[in-house]
Amino acid sequence: MTRYLIIGNSSGGIGAAEAIREIDRRGPLTIVSEEPYPAYSRPLIARYLAGETSVERMAYRRPEFYRQNDIDLVLGQRLVRLDLASRHAELDDGRLLPYDQLLLAVGGTPIVPPIEGLREHEFFTFATLDDARRLAARVHSGQRAIVVGGGLVGLSVTEALVRLGVHVTIVELAPQILGRALDTAAASLVLRAVEEGGVRVLTGRTVARVLGSAPTAGVVSRVELDDGSTLPCDLLIIAIGVRPRTEVVDGTGIAVQRGIIVDRHMATSCREVYACGDVAEAYDFIAGGNRLTPIWPNAYLGGRIAGRNMAGVDTVYSGGTAMNSLHAFGLSIMSAGIVDPPPGEPAYEVLLRDERARGTYRKITLLGGRVVGMIFAGEVDRAGIVFGLMRNGTPVHAFADRLLADDLGLLSLPAEVWQQMMRV
Ligand SMILES: Cc1cc2nc3c(=O)[nH]c(=O)nc-3n(C[C@H](O)[C@H](O)[C@H](O)COP(=O)(O)OP(=O)(O)OC[C@H]3O[C@@H](n4cnc5c(N)ncnc54)[C@H](O)[C@@H]3O)c2cc1C
Repeated sequence: MTRYLIIGNSSGGIGAAEAIREIDRRGPLTIVSEEPYPAYSRPLIARYLAGETSVERMAYRRPEFYRQNDIDLVLGQRLVRLDLASRHAELDDGRLLPYDQLLLAVGGTPIVPPIEGLREHEFFTFATLDDARRLAARVHSGQRAIVVGGGLVGLSVTEALVRLGVHVTIVELAPQILGRALDTAAASLVLRAVEEGGVRVLTGRTVARVLGSAPTAGVVSRVELDDGSTLPCDLLIIAIGVRPRTEVVDGTGIAVQRGIIVDRHMATSCREVYACGDVAEAYDFIAGGNRLTPIWPNAYLGGRIAGRNMAGVDTVYSGGTAMNSLHAFGLSIMSAGIVDPPPGEPAYEVLLRDERARGTYRKITLLGGRVVGMIFAGEVDRAGIVFGLMRNGTPVHAFADRLLADDLGLLSLPAEVWQQMMRV
């Protein structure tokens, strides 16, 4: 019997466990997680902070999931060492877990920049349910918060704080917010919505120093920006991105670049060891090579592919790509692939419908007659169809003029195209 071990009990780990159990009901299956909770939906922690959902409602699977699937769930324990030769994983309580097939679905860890005074004061990151709980315990209406980082996580935590009556300033180093997810025009639409929501946004700036009030050690009172100005601050949240937790393979010889490199079967450079999700550098069907694509659906799908291969069914990962969707401050956005093609590069064709004055913006980027990037802001109902075309690599030149139409529907596409999309 094959012994399966999965480190990480989130999107990737659950995807793998489900795929394994669809094939092999008998092989012992253990999931280890450093977090003390059954799997929960990480994207919902902002709603939890805002008091709009409960831990129970964030559960990613029913409580009986582990029992029904004969999964031995080890919570609150961390993998500290891997011995590939003897195929053992050592946990921080000293336990040695043997395996035949191992999956590393350990995600990422928030990046904490080397800001002067930061480590001497209280600050928050925002990546786990415990992070949200810690912040929830300290927040109250009327406080002033500084959120460092204007990406998706920064905006999510900002919106939750605003709902709790906190005055938020976002400090973003790049010239625009959502720099990785949107082009300048679409970002300006989001900026307007965020500012109308009462948030102050400072771009091209960073926090240079964290200052406290002398009588209460460790409590932040102000931050100093890189232009020398200071802002009052009761809560400091760092949301500048995550770093793959590749340290789990330190010293093993498993190949790593920015993440753990996996092949199209989600296998690492060591047979019997797989990786998926935020920690893995996996195939990106737009880049045509390996990249980090740290989003929930890619982790789940990559986990499923890993699980199938671990259980002996040869399965190839069709790939993921960068995709972002957000509903914040009353504005919905969805973007994927190449959102801002390199300027002056004639190979790209851009279809644009810029109606920012009425709150919408749509942009589709084509390369060789196929969709390679998209931004839909304000009006996202049709975005799924365009994403489907991008995912399938469908040649669209014959009907490209229809892709930005308000009434774009599957039936506006040629019959063979929508029939193919219905089959996928
Ligand atoms: C606030 C927030 C909002 C987000 N919103 C979205 C969204 O709207 N849409 C979207 O697609 N994506 C979103 N994401 C990203 C998404 O949550 C991640 O891509 C996804 O969770 C990755 O899943 P994963 O299984 O790779 O790893 P993770 O979800 O990061 O889980 C990894 C688990 O492994 C555990 N672990 C790590 N190291 C060890 C170890 N050594 N031993 C034991 N356990 C370990 C960790 O504690 C963690 O529980 C959001 C993320 C955050 C933080």
